[in-house]
Amino acid sequence: MSLLELEGVNVFYEDFQALYDITISVEEGEVFACIGANGAGKSTMLKTVAGLLIPREGRVLFDGQPINTMPPYKRVELGISSVPEGRRVFPSLTVHENLLMGAYRKRKGPWTADAIYELFPLLQPLRRRQASGLSGGEQQALAIGRALMANPRLILMDEVSLGLAPVVIKRIYEAFPTLLENGCTILVVEQDVQHVLTVAGHVACFLEGRIALQGIPSELSNEQITAAYFGV
Ligand code: ATP
Repeated sequence: MSLLELEGVNVFYEDFQALYDITISVEEGEVFACIGANGAGKSTMLKTVAGLLIPREGRVLFDGQPINTMPPYKRVELGISSVPEGRRVFPSLTVHENLLMGAYRKRKGPWTADAIYELFPLLQPLRRRQASGLSGGEQQALAIGRALMANPRLILMDEVSLGLAPVVIKRIYEAFPTLLENGCTILVVEQDVQHVLTVAGHVACFLEGRIALQGIPSELSNEQITAAYFGV
């Protein structure tokens, strides 16, 4: 059984249909990458998994259990944690307080504040610093750390590398194997295609609300991916 399944999911913003017949299976212990241009529907799909949007049709299954209408906080308790687009750390709280907020509905598991400081050593000297003063890369590390504090089985990451320096992006991706080793499956949305395809077990390419292509990255050609990305 897959950890997460979307079956024929249609999602609307009022009259506007943003997702058409989305079907994906995310296997436990893998990185599943969603790529595609601006407005293709990637964030909408993540919000549907997090419970911020309810599909009008289709099913969302987590560990075999239908969760279509389950509220977001219950999904966190089940083991679905989010790293939202634009980081969204709590600006007036310190780094350490932000991490503790992530543990509010935590499950049992390996992730503690100390484990996060070990994963992202750059956060250690900043622990008493207010989050509003951090750089974009530090905030992204903190947002991932905060999501991990819930000890998720599935972590949802939106636009991981958007606006970050290449050296920071590298550091974030270097943390992925440690997450997987600790039992966390990763569903990541990216526009930086090259980077994410080196770590992904499966990729789905979104185009105008539909999945134009999906498969195992090593089995797809650059031409296929480019065509699906741009719709040519
Ligand atoms: P981006 O990289 O820009 O976030 P995306 O692939 O994540 O792109 P979505 O944000 O999921 O795309 O948007 C999919 C479509 O839904 C777009 O046409 C967008 O304009 C529309 N949309 C997104 N949020 C809303 C909203 N709150 N109300 C109405 N339409 C929305």
